[in-house]
Amino acid sequence: MITLQDCQAHDRADPLAPLRAQFDLPDGVIYLDGNSLGALPRATAERVQRTLRQEWGQDLIQSWNSAGWFAQPLATGDKIARLIGAGPNQVVAADTTSVNLYKALSAAIGLARAADPARRRIVSERSNFPTDLYIAEALCREHGMVLQLVHADELPQALDEQVAVLMLTHVHYRSGRMHDMAALNARAQALGILTVWDLAHSAGAVPVDLLGSGADFAVGCGYKYLNGGPGAPAFVWLNPRHHAQAWQPLAGWWGHARPFGFSPHYEPAPGIARFQCGTQPMLSLVALDAGVDTVLAAEALGGMAALRRKSLALTELFMQTAQDELAGHGVQIVTPQDPAARGSQVSLVLDADGYAVMQALIAHGVIGDYRAGDPEAPHPEDRMDLLRFGMTPLYLRHTDVWQAVQTLRQILDQGLWRDPRHARRHAVT
Ligand SMILES: *Cc1c(COP(=O)(O)O)cnc(C)c1O
Repeated sequence: MITLQDCQAHDRADPLAPLRAQFDLPDGVIYLDGNSLGALPRATAERVQRTLRQEWGQDLIQSWNSAGWFAQPLATGDKIARLIGAGPNQVVAADTTSVNLYKALSAAIGLARAADPARRRIVSERSNFPTDLYIAEALCREHGMVLQLVHADELPQALDEQVAVLMLTHVHYRSGRMHDMAALNARAQALGILTVWDLAHSAGAVPVDLLGSGADFAVGCGYKYLNGGPGAPAFVWLNPRHHAQAWQPLAGWWGHARPFGFSPHYEPAPGIARFQCGTQPMLSLVALDAGVDTVLAAEALGGMAALRRKSLALTELFMQTAQDELAGHGVQIVTPQDPAARGSQVSLVLDADGYAVMQALIAHGVIGDYRAGDPEAPHPEDRMDLLRFGMTPLYLRHTDVWQAVQTLRQILDQGLWRDPRHARRHAVT
């Protein structure tokens, strides 16, 4: 059994412990939902205030130049690039993950079919995050293509020379299972298939090597592990080998080679700048920039490799204590035990009603979330109702994780989740 004292010793020895002070976490709360909405960085309020009061209030429209507003999507993009194995001028922070996926997937379809019009399939996982599948479905309708949805284990057989694009989320939002990006890129490339990766649960959570692994396109989320705040802009990357040929359909003026030339004809900007559409929400963008800074602060302490070590230690600790302490409650851990196949979250199933258990946990100061299963899914794991616990190494302590499992145990042992108020459904689970 792992004891509280063991966890206290781990916290004392944790080289990343100072990073927690970057956040304004409420007292008495153990926050295990940074994979859904990252915590508020202390620097964000001041940064947004400055943009609001000085840059907008005092400097007014001049701030597009003097405060760097116009260049902010690319400047924040350059910071994100350092976390995902990309180079400068390759990432732009803008729009939402859904919109960026539309742009990236459209561009990928355009490139794949220019090379070979007979490629009519997009392959993805049936249990991928729904917005990704909806966007792919819409593009299939638009282009007369077919979306083939398979289970992760069936991916190798699904790839052949009729496939245009392989579109995957790197770390699964439900199970926390992580794909081998390099292996899938190599397999896709050998068959002439382009890859589009969603890094929503990877950026700031696990090391990613987009260039080194030969990926073609990527998108990701700003409000999860990047701590950008609710509705923060997302990001998009494409491999520089595609910069000259990749066109995206939301060809707005910010993606033009000379936005202030006011030409009646579209001419895409060189490089990633062409993946912009229109004017970006500056208040949200500076908040995202401050959020990304909290992850970059780890660079001096070992960077993503150190964050990954701590993240794996936390997920391992959670899984081990859950197995030890919740043995009588039918606990089943869905997240892979193999560290190489695991992101930065733990998902589990219990005999008890998962929704009510999570509501009871939240009422006791432990915040995770609940994801209902898909009753029609052919794969049993996809039908399960999951409790999700995100492990954010920037601000979580080993003692937090230990305490969270003790609280869960108390709720189950005492049946506290049976209180009818925990069964009430909210719009967001
Ligand atoms: C969180 C998440 C999104 C969010 O998309 P929005 O456009 O920001 O609503 C998309 N895809 C995946 C895989 C996600 O985890």
